Amino acid sequence: MGERLGAALARPDLDGATWEALEEALLGADVSWAVTEQLLGCLRSEASERRISDPAALRSLLADAVADLMHAPDGALDRSGSPAVWLFVGVNGSGKTTTIGKLAHAEVRAGRRVVLGAADTFRAAATEQLATWAERAGAHLVRGNAGGDPAAVAFDAISHAAASGADVVMIDTAGRLHTNHNLMGELAKIRRVAERAPGELCEALVTLDATTGQNGLAQARMFGEAAGVTGAVLTKLDGSARGGSVLSVRAELNVAVKLVGLGEGLGDLVPFDAAAFAAALVDTEGMDADVRGS
Ligand code: GDP
Repeated sequence: MGERLGAALARPDLDGATWEALEEALLGADVSWAVTEQLLGCLRSEASERRISDPAALRSLLADAVADLMHAPDGALDRSGSPAVWLFVGVNGSGKTTTIGKLAHAEVRAGRRVVLGAADTFRAAATEQLATWAERAGAHLVRGNAGGDPAAVAFDAISHAAASGADVVMIDTAGRLHTNHNLMGELAKIRRVAERAPGELCEALVTLDATTGQNGLAQARMFGEAAGVTGAVLTKLDGSARGGSVLSVRAELNVAVKLVGLGEGLGDLVPFDAAAFAAALVDTEGMDADVRGS
């Protein structure tokens, strides 16, 4: 996305073709039509007000507009519960388990005690994968019987965390099909249990695979309704040229992007930083350093 915008901004004149190139860059990176129009409308009026004729001068204006759009006052993870319960939802393959593993690692490194709940009882492989991450991260895993009630696993994990004085409980859930009503009912039940248990449901985070583009928006909407989503994790941003959906998730769903996945390793998860993201977007060379350094 940054590369395409960079090419548009490197054009010699701020003419119709440059505006078109900017529009194409945004749409091509999966920024929705509505958000593209909003951003370009902002830029056009600023450019005419300030009599800007060099596209390069739009760089910082665009960065400001993106940073404003993405800024979320509620961007940090809520740790207020004792224990704080974080629920993870999202379609299979979107990166839930990997994100939980990476986040558990970061939390343990920060000195917090972490319990993971394997509430995807439908897939034995999912529990095994979470067990591996729990071991790597130094977190305690609570698992249920294969095919058992996912809400019961969530309850057990939260109860265990409360009894053992853990700080955070992260619940992994099934994501076999986001159009499946049973799944949505199951998630709503897990949510109710998590609200009632000794813990406090502080976050319901939806993982969205950046490489799936606009599809992520529909997913976020569905999971939002069932699980009362409080934020999004944009995964696989390292492998995507279409990270623009992140703008739509924020602008159209009013969901804060809280974390970004930049790879499969333990350390490849960073807090989302609107200003760094915006700066990286219009300065292709600084991208990696800016985002990782934030
Ligand atoms: P789940 O089914 O939602 O739990 O998804 P997984 O956590 O199993 O992830 C699915 C695949 O995506 C795995 O191969 C992960 O290694 C990979 N993955 C997850 N997050 C990232 C990321 O940020 N970057 C990259 N490159 N791969 C990721």
